Amino acid sequence: MTTIGILGAGQLGRMLALAGYPLGMRFRFFDPAADAPAKLLAEHVTAEYADLDALRRFADGLDVVTYEFENVPVETVRFLEQFCPVYPPPLALEKGQDRLVEKLFFRMLGISTPDFAAVSSDADLENAARVTGFPAVLKTRRMGYDGKGQFTVWNLDELGGAFRSLQGQPAILEQFVPFERELSILAVRGRDGEMVFYPLIENTHREGILRLSVAPAPRRPKTSRLLEYHQSTQSLAEMYALALMNALNYVGVLAIEFFQVGDQLLANEMAPRVHNSGHWTLQGAVTSQFENHVRAVTGLPLGSTTPLGVTAMVNLIGHVPTLDSILKIEGAHLHLYDKAPRAGRKVGHINLVARTHEELLSKAEIIKRLVEG
Ligand code: AMP
Repeated sequence: MTTIGILGAGQLGRMLALAGYPLGMRFRFFDPAADAPAKLLAEHVTAEYADLDALRRFADGLDVVTYEFENVPVETVRFLEQFCPVYPPPLALEKGQDRLVEKLFFRMLGISTPDFAAVSSDADLENAARVTGFPAVLKTRRMGYDGKGQFTVWNLDELGGAFRSLQGQPAILEQFVPFERELSILAVRGRDGEMVFYPLIENTHREGILRLSVAPAPRRPKTSRLLEYHQSTQSLAEMYALALMNALNYVGVLAIEFFQVGDQLLANEMAPRVHNSGHWTLQGAVTSQFENHVRAVTGLPLGSTTPLGVTAMVNLIGHVPTLDSILKIEGAHLHLYDKAPRAGRKVGHINLVARTHEELLSKAEIIKRLVEG
């Protein structure tokens, strides 16, 4: 029996365990929160990430450690490496935790990004704005997610105000990208270097939070070279993912988020873990991202990423409509995370699989109305 230790016991950890049980895996969680969503599913250690005694207890008897949260301190992961392998490799965390380091790493590998510049003090503001122009987006380098710690600014005055509100936290200024749409790719690399890629996903965010994913992403824009265009975008995303995974000697699921502008993909960020935009794979692909992550980190062969139709994933944010209202929609699959509803909090999602994008979008509209109340 293989026992997998997971740092973080949120919904991603919960869905990893749910995918691993049919393969005969066992799980153990580590999370500072006493009421984390995955804790009902397996044994768990409740302690801070810096608590070395607790980490030793956690590691005892584990075959492999993974994480579901990209802000786990790198020192925690490096400490655990003395007891058993940790995948994805800590280097992926190091690169992903700082937006500036991450974007420099993308550029080094030939991955296009929006224009950006570091902002460490007031003295950097003018030069940074010269690089990005206005409008621009100021983001904290660390600990930002779901649009937190981000400001869109239109002139130097606003930029100065936004930077001062960060109270000295190092930041990055990015060009505001007038994107056609946001796309993401999920890629998986096994311990032996085998790689598989899921089809590109189209993502719609509101207030910085993912609301809707559709996969495979519909073909756009409507040109006569529709198919070639779409395939080249998929190939470009795969090439970027491959470059990242090889450079990091990566094992597990990797997500990369892009802005699409014409035939260009500008990388916004990567997540060295299973990802919200991959939840569609639970019903929409031969093998889910969760099962493939479990397979990858335990050294098993990877599963097929072939889609089973077209799938919409609608996030439930802040509240859950009645079960009846969701479950009576034909083909709707509900996934709840056992989290208390709170404004802006992801408490579940709904997957809906259809044969065509037209069929899907009419149903997804019904779900979106239901979800948004
Ligand atoms: P992030 O936390 O970087 O994933 O940003 C959250 C969301 O804010 C993204 O998914 C975009 O919708 C939007 N956003 C972030 N950065 C930019 C940018 N440079 N230009 C335009 N929109 C952005």
